[in-house]
Amino acid sequence: MNVASHIPIKTRREVESMRAAGRHVAEILLELREITRAGVTTGEIDARARQLIDQRGVVSSFLGYAPRGLPAFPAVICISVNEEIVHGIPGERELRDGDIVTLDFGVEAEGFHGDSAVTIPIGEVDPAALELIEATRASLYCGVEAMRPGNRLSDIGNRVQQHAEKPGYSVVRDFVGHGIGRQLHEPPQIPNYGSPGRGPRLLSGMVFAIEPMVNVGGPDVRMLDDDWTAVTDDGSLSAHFEHTILVTDNGPEILTQVDGSH
Ligand code: MG
Ligand code: MG
Repeated sequence: MNVASHIPIKTRREVESMRAAGRHVAEILLELREITRAGVTTGEIDARARQLIDQRGVVSSFLGYAPRGLPAFPAVICISVNEEIVHGIPGERELRDGDIVTLDFGVEAEGFHGDSAVTIPIGEVDPAALELIEATRASLYCGVEAMRPGNRLSDIGNRVQQHAEKPGYSVVRDFVGHGIGRQLHEPPQIPNYGSPGRGPRLLSGMVFAIEPMVNVGGPDVRMLDDDWTAVTDDGSLSAHFEHTILVTDNGPEILTQVDGSH
């Protein structure tokens, strides 16, 4: 069976809708970054995200999402602080000077999803945390660079891992990037690690969400009792960056990026 045949190729029209969805995600994330400050609660950021979604007449990709029998996700944004890796649930937690905070956000517009994440330092942050953030951001861009027609799927994760692990960090294995389109999560799964040169060849019209999660310590993950929040097993800091990217004959096109984006 041809594995590549399972990866949807978007038509020109579908790509236009995905550009629209991606732009909404990028613009809303920029607004949310503005209010992500010490003294603000993660629940207040979620409330603002709900307002912005309503104003634009788009739909949350995350609210009510319930894969594999998990409880429905109760918010429109995932907010993960410090040792939290991914899928943190907004609530009464107040952000503090020195925290690093990941905003992971998605919307559906014109029937298509966009998905993006950024880790932000709050106030004065340990230089080691800033280095982790920058290495994670750069590792995403290394993966994006591999999204060219003719390359193999595993080239993406290989590039991410090569960059992320150079300073001695580890990449998380338990959560991966993914195809995206009419569904938030479509085939294929895209690990942030592995050997190059494997899997289907990339074709113009494929759209993937690439999302490295990088830990200062080991790669192991522990789940909190809320069934959603994943934290580093060793308590070390973790950062997470994500974009939704289209493969084109002219190279990768980042759909979740506007002026000022990560
Ligand atoms: Mg995401
Ligand atoms: Mg994603």
